[in-house]
Amino acid sequence: MFGKQLIDSDYIKCLNNLIMSAKIIDGKLLATKVKDQVSSAVTELSHKNIFPGLATIIVGDDPASSIYVKNKGKSAKEVGIKSFQYAFPENVLEKDLLKLINELNLNNVVDGILVQLPLPSHINSDLVIDSIDPSKDVDGFNVLNAGRIFIGRDGVIPCTPLGCLLMLRSVNKELRGKNAVIIGRSNIVGKPMAQLLLNEDCTVTIVHSKTNNIQEIVKEADIVIAAVGIANLVKSNWIKKDAIAIDVGINRIKLEGKNKLVGDIDFNEVKEIASFISPVPGGVGPMTIACLLMNTVLQCSKRNNIVLTDNLINLF
Ligand code: NAP
Repeated sequence: MFGKQLIDSDYIKCLNNLIMSAKIIDGKLLATKVKDQVSSAVTELSHKNIFPGLATIIVGDDPASSIYVKNKGKSAKEVGIKSFQYAFPENVLEKDLLKLINELNLNNVVDGILVQLPLPSHINSDLVIDSIDPSKDVDGFNVLNAGRIFIGRDGVIPCTPLGCLLMLRSVNKELRGKNAVIIGRSNIVGKPMAQLLLNEDCTVTIVHSKTNNIQEIVKEADIVIAAVGIANLVKSNWIKKDAIAIDVGINRIKLEGKNKLVGDIDFNEVKEIASFISPVPGGVGPMTIACLLMNTVLQCSKRNNIVLTDNLINLF
């Protein structure tokens, strides 16, 4: 009897794997589609003698930040955006950073300015980010753009939440009325994500490190966005059947002696419960970069009073 039960449960598990495994939201593929559109927009602008440019600024030599900035510059070039890269040593003076930003604000070949965060502790990050001309703030982090998004006005949408929104739209056009739970309340992911989903008529809850009964709250969600920074925090018993799970987290762990990148959502478990899930790597990361390129082209066209043929943000 015991043996038969085992066989039965193995059989059911196997069937479940076949029937229930979530569809993967392929961020790499979607990012390629976004980049193709951005590339077409760059060509359209070039016919009007306008050539979008993106300046990236990095301070110090954190390996992860260096890779991110390098990838951003490389991706910009791939779609025809000019890339200007500035690197400062860890001990750079705040005033020197502000001086460069001021020069870039006034430079007409630059349409986007990105300062890679985090900055060293002797530099006031808020001051630096707020010194970027809001029309060139392609990360959407400065106070004016954050405020505009908060009150539902036209502003630059931060790249990671925008990427998540496009990923959601790619699998579900109708977000209205959905119950969305965002895990994490950072200014660069959680809060703007909540605002974007509110603008889509979702009912939005943000949970964080001080939330009681987090698992029960997440379990009610049709859409779960995890932006925490804790490897595999979200387990299958946190997830409602057929929910959509988007994983923003990037965590480096050691597994069987090898370095591995994993998200905040336990992919292997949650894929059995969710209807759609984004992987790490290959999910939100590539979409974040694609949206940075999109923001650069959008801001370039706005500054030059050009209405692009395709509305990039409504791509999916
Ligand atoms: P952050 O500023 O450190 O914020 C983390 C948030 O998670 C905080 O609101 C924190 O709550 C909450 N939190 C911490 N422990 C928790 C717990 N046990 N349960 C529930 N909530 C908890 O991080 P972030 O900048 O938003 O980034 C989050 C993750 O996304 C990181 O892994 C980061 O590397 C990744 N990321 C990825 C991309 C991408 O392109 N894929 C872009 C940005 C960030 P409190 O506010 O209460 O402290």
